[in-house]
Amino acid sequence: MRQLIAGNWKMFGRLTDVTPFAEAMRAAPAHVDLLVCPPFTLLERFATALEGGQMALGAQNCHANPQGAHTGDIAAPMLVDAGAAYVILGHSERRNDHGENNAVIRAKTESAIAAGLIPIVCVGETEGEREAGEAEHVVRSQLQHSLPPGFAGVVAYEPVWAIGTGRTPTEDDVKSMHAAIRAALAAQLGQDGAKIRILYGGSVKPGNAASLLALPEVGGALVGGASLKAEDFLAIANAAP
Ligand code: 13P
Repeated sequence: MRQLIAGNWKMFGRLTDVTPFAEAMRAAPAHVDLLVCPPFTLLERFATALEGGQMALGAQNCHANPQGAHTGDIAAPMLVDAGAAYVILGHSERRNDHGENNAVIRAKTESAIAAGLIPIVCVGETEGEREAGEAEHVVRSQLQHSLPPGFAGVVAYEPVWAIGTGRTPTEDDVKSMHAAIRAALAAQLGQDGAKIRILYGGSVKPGNAASLLALPEVGGALVGGASLKAEDFLAIANAAP
């Protein structure tokens, strides 16, 4: 399976950043799928700037309803309208900042799929949960409760303690967690579970990308900070097998 290298710009970026980034992506390697998920304000500009290129566009959240009286929210069909093909859901920053639980994430995921978007559902344990030996249990439970039946999309494993910290799990820990996620997907989705790409996210940088991306069951990366610099993002894409 081709790897997916996805950038999550989080709450960073201005309109003036779009064209230089999109132009730099023309030098991207052809053997990977590329995705950028900027803030809502940059979606439409990105959609135009990326036209004809290999990079896809995604958003970072959507509401569970397709429309309605929800001040400040954005619905999945609006993201499609703005040119997005993917949406990140259940990121730990959404779970923490906005109290999103698995049931909310599942409803959003259903809404995204209904609108024709590819959801990237994020799971991952906190440091305390890992220290308590609960990491796999927590992630399995997140998968069980946030993925709707018949889920078709992408899963991203992002240990909360590795996000923005410069720390990453050991290769053995990534291997065993991705194997556990694959097994959980097979149990939940049957044969279709094998088709789901499992991304690793959390302090992915040019310096560690090659070793992380080479691990079994790692189908790509969800990159935060290092996706803001075109040069670093391209270096990560080039490191993919
Ligand atoms: P960093 O790459 O900045 O650690 O962020 C990871 C992340 O949260 C991507 O969604």
